[in-house]
Amino acid sequence: MTATPAPSRTLSAVWYGVGDLRLEERPVPALGPTGVLVEVRACGVCATDLHLLDGTIRFYDPPRVLGHEVGGVVRAIGASVRHVRPGDAVALDTSVPCGTCFHCREGAPFFCPDRTSVFAGFSERAVVPASVVFPLPPGVDAATGALAEPLSCALHAVERAALHPGDTVAILGAGAIGLLVLAVARLAGATRLIVSDPEPLRRTIAERLGATHTVDPVAQSPVDVVAQLTGGRGADCVFEAAGVQATVDEAVRLPRRGGTLVQVSVPGTGVTFALPAYDLFARELTIKGSFVRTTEFRRAVELLGVLDLVPLITERFPLGDVRAAFEAARGRRGVRVLVGPAAGS
Ligand SMILES: [Zn+2]
Ligand SMILES: [Zn+2]
Repeated sequence: MTATPAPSRTLSAVWYGVGDLRLEERPVPALGPTGVLVEVRACGVCATDLHLLDGTIRFYDPPRVLGHEVGGVVRAIGASVRHVRPGDAVALDTSVPCGTCFHCREGAPFFCPDRTSVFAGFSERAVVPASVVFPLPPGVDAATGALAEPLSCALHAVERAALHPGDTVAILGAGAIGLLVLAVARLAGATRLIVSDPEPLRRTIAERLGATHTVDPVAQSPVDVVAQLTGGRGADCVFEAAGVQATVDEAVRLPRRGGTLVQVSVPGTGVTFALPAYDLFARELTIKGSFVRTTEFRRAVELLGVLDLVPLITERFPLGDVRAAFEAARGRRGVRVLVGPAAGS
């Protein structure tokens, strides 16, 4: 279906186990009737990728190509693909649920025990099933499509919180997820948005995205700031988006009586909630986890055409420097590190 033959090989970053990420030339699989060949323009490095590489969480077994925050351009389509055409800018939801298990039939595809993930992101190109390909709104750059996946997680978290227009929201951690939760919470009508993060750059970006108050938790307790701003009451909705023990400890102290806490970060396995049972009872807290998403991906793609998320993309690395990109993400440098062709190419 293409004018020029598509390349038959791809450079990919393959994860072989703890700390072992290798660049390899691999054949591009055959397209097939429902396949789409996508040239990757950008793939975000996420905390999940770092956890997988370090062996601190185990979603999949190696070897495999990592990278699930993917924006790209369609290069070729299989004979029965109708919803995209060559040249379209797209985002990929790289997860493929089985569709038939209990959780899939309950509309919770991320609980699917047979969920697989397509080999995609840290690669020059990939053949993926049409079902994972979402066309971007007009005018949205293909690389920005890499933000659709984390944005869908933020949408899910805000919907888990069931926040109301006029609510006061506190967000602990201004990495990509915290900042995307901020953008979505503002869109959902929260009027007071308090964001805590020790990194000055992240606080500045939070202000650009609409935070009404930012807190350096090293200098000031977010618990004190939220208390001051709410007459001692606490926040209506709290999002724990850093995943370390200190922020989890703060997060349980922040909701008002009857308030809600959503835990949206990917915490280390040793991080635990320490909450007196009496507190849960007397404060009538709602505490919810927010694990990836259900059906939010399509709406996240729509929102890429509305929200200005460019400030989140703080650094870009070519695929050949994928290890340096991982190190930059691990060092909390900036917000979202993207891997892909050099900017402008
Ligand atoms: Zn991610
Ligand atoms: Zn399933």
